[in-house]
Amino acid sequence: MSYVAGVTGRQKIAVIGAGLAGLSCAGQLANHGHDVRLFDKARGPGGRMSTRRFTTPQGDAVADHGAQYFTARDPAFQAEVDEWAARDIVTQWPDIADDAWIGKPSMNAIIRHLAAPFDVQWNCRAEALMRSDKGWFIPGLPTDEIFDAVILAIPSEQALTFLAQHDFDMARKAMLARFQPCWTVLLAFDHPLATDKKFIRDVGAIGWAAREGAKPGRLAPASGVDCWVVQASASWSAAHLEDEAEQVVALMQTALGEALSLPLPQPIAQSTHRWRYAMSSGLGEAALWNPALGLGVCGDWLLGPRIECAWLSGRALAAQIATEQALATA
Ligand SMILES: Cc1cc2nc3c(=O)[nH]c(=O)nc-3n(C[C@H](O)[C@H](O)[C@H](O)COP(=O)(O)OP(=O)(O)OC[C@H]3O[C@@H](n4cnc5c(N)ncnc54)[C@H](O)[C@@H]3O)c2cc1C
Repeated sequence: MSYVAGVTGRQKIAVIGAGLAGLSCAGQLANHGHDVRLFDKARGPGGRMSTRRFTTPQGDAVADHGAQYFTARDPAFQAEVDEWAARDIVTQWPDIADDAWIGKPSMNAIIRHLAAPFDVQWNCRAEALMRSDKGWFIPGLPTDEIFDAVILAIPSEQALTFLAQHDFDMARKAMLARFQPCWTVLLAFDHPLATDKKFIRDVGAIGWAAREGAKPGRLAPASGVDCWVVQASASWSAAHLEDEAEQVVALMQTALGEALSLPLPQPIAQSTHRWRYAMSSGLGEAALWNPALGLGVCGDWLLGPRIECAWLSGRALAAQIATEQALATA
C-alpha cells in the first residue's frame, strides 16, 4: 500500500519521541485532522529540555539539566514563543542576551504544555519498525495497532537502526549526522556560594554553569539551598565519556571552584546525567518524508543543535505531509 494512496482521510500516525520536534510536528498534524499518537521511552516530559528534581537534606532541589536557554529568530517560532510568554510558560533571561528565553518555572514547562492535548504514552520505547501492506506495526509499544504513517522524532543514532531497514537515503543522512556528548552535574550547597556570578561559559573543562536560582521565574529553592548546574565542554565530555559518575562530579566540582575562584564546600546533594547525544551538527535539511512509505523524520539533528531548530523541523515535516496530502487529493 502506498501512503499517498491513502492520505485523503484522517490518518492514524505514530510519533516516536515526544521531545520538542515530535510535539511540534504532532500539534500540526492534529490540526490537520489526523489521529496522532505519541510514544516516548522517558518517564516524563522533557527530552533534552528536561528538568530534574533531586533530594537534598534540606528539601528537594530542581534544575534544568539539558538545554539552558534558547533564542527565537524565525518569525514563526518567535510567534509561538510570544504565545508561550502570554501563557506564562516562558520568560526572558536578559542577563544572557536580549533574545534569550527560558521555560517557566522550568525548561520542561514548554514540553508539558505541548504534550497536554495528547495522551502521550511515556515509558514506551519503540524497538523496531515493521511494515506490511496494511501499514506500520511498532514492536515495543503497548499496542498492536497498525499505523498509516510513522514519524521518528528521535536523535539520529537512535533513528538510524529503524531507518536502515526501510529507507536507505534517510539512513545515510542519519549516519552523516554527528552528536557531541555532554556530562551534566547538578550540585546543591546548603548555603549560597559567595559569588555574584549567575553563569559561567567556557572556562577550563566547563562549557556552561549556572546558578539555578538566578534564572528568572524559578520557584524558590528548598530553604537556603544554592543549586548549580555544571555542564562540561563537548571536548572534555568526549574525553571522559566512560568515566564513573562519581569521578565526573569530583572533577566538575573542582572546575567550578576554580572558575569561581572559590574554595567550594562539600555539596549536600548531587545528581549527574551523561548526555551521549547532546548537541547535533545539523545537516541543513529541515525534515525527511517518504510519502510512498508514510515514514517521516524530524529533530534538531537535521537543522542544528538548538531548540528553535527542533521546533522548526517538526513544523517542516507536518507541512511536507500536508503538501503531499493536498497534491494527492488535487
Ligand atoms: C546538555 C544540553 C544542553 C543544551 N543546551 C541548549 C541550549 O542552551 N540552547 C538550545 O537552543 N539548545 C540546547 N540544547 C539542544 C536542545 O535541547 C535540543 O536541540 C532539542 O531539545 C532537541 O529536541 P528533539 O525533539 O529534536 O530531541 P529530544 O529532545 O532528544 O527528543 C527525543 C525524544 O525521543 C525519545 N526517544 C528516543 N528514542 C526513543 C525510542 N526508541 N522510543 C521512544 N522514544 C524515544 C527521548 O526520550 C526524547 O524524549 C542542549 C541539549 C543538551 C543535551
